[in-house]
Amino acid sequence: MPKKVVLLGATGSIGSSTLEVIRRYPEEFSLIGLSGHSQTDKIRSLVEEFHPSVVCLPEIPNWASLYPGTTFLSGEKGLRKLASLPEADMIIIGISGLAGLLPTIEAIKAHKHLLSANKEAIVAAGPLINQWLSEAEKQIIPLDSEHNAIFTLLSRFPLNRVKKIILTASGGPFFHTPATPETTVNDVLNHPTWNMGSYITVNSATMLNKGFEVIEAHYLFRLPFEQIDVLIHPQSLVHGMIELSDGTHTMVASPNHMKYPIAMAMFYPDIPPVGENTFALAGKTLEFYPVPYERFPLLSLAYEVGKVGGLFPLALNALNEEIVSAFLKGVIHFLDIERLIQKGIELFAATEESLLSLSLDSILPAEQKARTIARDLVSQTSYAS
Ligand code: NDP
Ligand code: MG
Repeated sequence: MPKKVVLLGATGSIGSSTLEVIRRYPEEFSLIGLSGHSQTDKIRSLVEEFHPSVVCLPEIPNWASLYPGTTFLSGEKGLRKLASLPEADMIIIGISGLAGLLPTIEAIKAHKHLLSANKEAIVAAGPLINQWLSEAEKQIIPLDSEHNAIFTLLSRFPLNRVKKIILTASGGPFFHTPATPETTVNDVLNHPTWNMGSYITVNSATMLNKGFEVIEAHYLFRLPFEQIDVLIHPQSLVHGMIELSDGTHTMVASPNHMKYPIAMAMFYPDIPPVGENTFALAGKTLEFYPVPYERFPLLSLAYEVGKVGGLFPLALNALNEEIVSAFLKGVIHFLDIERLIQKGIELFAATEESLLSLSLDSILPAEQKARTIARDLVSQTSYAS
């Protein structure tokens, strides 16, 4: 019997790669539930293709009655119901941003087998998520390529023999040639190895994406920051490695497409029986470089913020979302992003004393506070006429 899969965020980039895996292995997986947000037409074509039993959108669409075999749910309540669907064998979260947090919590509390790409929820609420995971005796299987590689490696070696884990980073477009005040949005979106959405591509150029991934790894693998390293690997073929107690490095390599780590996660603890095509390392050059931290201050900031914890990681995420959005609209320059985020964290730290206590109730107000700080900083900087 195929495993029954629920996919939240089916219309996004992670969603599309997951659908590719489901189409590739129809005897292994069957899509029984899915959600989307703004792309209603895309959801309709997925309903026609997969005939899911449950679908969730912000509002029930006027064409819902044409599909009597599908139950339509709406809003946040619907999303939570979908994330804990009793008949589901596997819940996959491909939603972006903090909107993924409540479904994540719901899936954990329902003791579901949970796979997630939603790094914002883990960065913002890692300690809470880990507490619920411990209570439910569950784990999150990561979809992000680096974390999936590390997860695969850690499941094969005893943790007390792991000296450190190493996340690889492409270095983005500015590793060889640093950004300048003239750097344009197009220069930034021209990622050398990965094809992703514009927000995550900007984060890759500032290397804050790797910073978020370091924080994500800290919570997912419950390791101190001192045991989490980053190495620049411009080819993006090795996704993660671990250094063992004797100095041996062991690593995972695959083509740079998200369908590979997603398939690995969906088949876990097995591995996909066949690949898409042969992946040959012959003729490929694999390079590794230390991170020039002085050129990527947001990666250092993420380590600092991660060590402080509390509401700071979520503030870093919210500041970044606002400031990067202003950059993508052409309101500020690329080099302003680093400066404004550093300033934003300082201002956030100066706001009140209870920033170290994280609770479900403190998340939303802290997020709004960070967004207000970011918008004020952007409006003081704006070059738009
Ligand atoms: P996309 O923007 O491509 O997709 C986001 C998905 O979430 C879409 O299905 C979207 O629906 C849905 N969505 C957006 N806002 C809401 C909301 N408020 N409520 C419910 N659903 C919502 O993002 P990605 O697929 O790129 O990323 C998803 C997550 O995976 C992120 O956390 C990202 O950091 C992480 N990730 C992504 C990688 C990648 O290669 N893209 C790699 C590793 C991690 P709709 O489109 O219908 O509006
Ligand atoms: Mg990644």
